[in-house]
Amino acid sequence: MNTEAYDVIIVGAGAAGMMSAIEAGKRGRKVLLVDHSKKIGEKIRISGGGRCNFTNIHTKPNKFISQNPKFVISALNQYTQNDFINLIKKHNIKFHEKKLGQLFCDESAQQIIDMLLLECEKANVVLKKEVIVDDVGKKDEGYFITTNCNQYIANSLIIATGGLSIPKIGASNFGYKMAKKFDLDIVETLPALVPLTFSEKILAKCKELAGLSVEAVVSFKKTFFEEGMLFTHRGLSGPSVLQISSYWKLGDNININLAPKLNLFQSLESKKKLEPKKDINLIISEILPKRLAQIICKENEVSGNICELSSKKIKQLSDAINSWAINPTGSEGYRTAEVTLGGVNTNELSSKTMMVKKHSGLFFIGEVVDVTGHLGGYNFQWAWSSGFVAGQYA
Ligand SMILES: Cc1cc2nc3c(=O)[nH]c(=O)nc-3n(C[C@H](O)[C@H](O)[C@H](O)COP(=O)(O)OP(=O)(O)OC[C@H]3O[C@@H](n4cnc5c(N)ncnc54)[C@H](O)[C@@H]3O)c2cc1C
Repeated sequence: MNTEAYDVIIVGAGAAGMMSAIEAGKRGRKVLLVDHSKKIGEKIRISGGGRCNFTNIHTKPNKFISQNPKFVISALNQYTQNDFINLIKKHNIKFHEKKLGQLFCDESAQQIIDMLLLECEKANVVLKKEVIVDDVGKKDEGYFITTNCNQYIANSLIIATGGLSIPKIGASNFGYKMAKKFDLDIVETLPALVPLTFSEKILAKCKELAGLSVEAVVSFKKTFFEEGMLFTHRGLSGPSVLQISSYWKLGDNININLAPKLNLFQSLESKKKLEPKKDINLIISEILPKRLAQIICKENEVSGNICELSSKKIKQLSDAINSWAINPTGSEGYRTAEVTLGGVNTNELSSKTMMVKKHSGLFFIGEVVDVTGHLGGYNFQWAWSSGFVAGQYA
């Protein structure tokens, strides 16, 4: 088997890996970028419904979850959302803000992949696909990887193999295995930005309402998100549920406010005085979609004129709408999760360089690290920022 020497080897040609390759290559480093997949940038391709929500104009450290919330500050400052927007503009990729600062390509996510591949080419990055890395280790002043094709050595090794979600498009546990091999602590990994599942009674309600979407505030303890919520055949989904899934802990309740703009108890009590003969089903149907209103009224055994309802009954009904507390039984798991919570403990890494503190020349970047963004382009921004930083120091 031949041994080829490079300055930098990067395993994983996703968002973070390509960004680090470009930056290291621009510095004149001889870079090898390897991936086990046949197609490069698959997660970028399928992201944002095929249009890639590539960053968020409101990127701030508080949009990221990590055991050390301050860890992201340095990388986000070294490479900001505006830096990535400028790169997109340089390549004449048209984009738009959808909502809440989320930027999407006007045309296709493939434009982002093509842009990154072009930048890799300009930076003389050697890209090898369908490479199976059998072994990785430390050698003299650097690192080696043994693959199905060759052995490669380099002073710097960057692990950018991402998280565990969507295994069928190339996700693997390689990065976590490498972290263990180099004796690094790993924060427990869990599927995140993922639909939640429920036991039979609630599931039956979700199935009956499948396809219905409402604006809701979904909260877990003090954390809440006000965005769309979707009933599905498997449980609950939609942005507000995906967001809370990153915080929710098994065994605990989440709380859903289906009419966040309204204090329903007060409103129904005053309706009782002003329009006593109005039908309660009709009143609730003016607040919530009809199907949902009917189910909630039935569940709470309310019907007839509002004046016939006791304050206790009105309170029960209002709570079912303003404060629906439910206990998820789990999530749909890595099959549909957008990201992996947890990962390489940030205490093991320099926040300035992304280099492992106890192994000079070894870097971990992107989703494999214990940094998880909120929904809305933040996960890609973390990939760009952490990749950029490693590319400056590898
Ligand atoms: C359906 C979906 C939609 C998403 N939409 C968005 C969005 O719109 N906006 C947003 O910000 N985030 C989104 N995300 C999250 C985002 O895609 C990831 O956070 C981001 O891609 C992480 O970048 P990364 O480079 O760390 O990992 P990845 O992009 O996953 O790249 C890892 C690379 O490593 C390779 N690899 C894995 N194992 C090995 C191995 N053993 N050997 C060699 N190579 C290996 C993989 O093939 C892959 O190319 C979405 C995720 C999913 C699943």
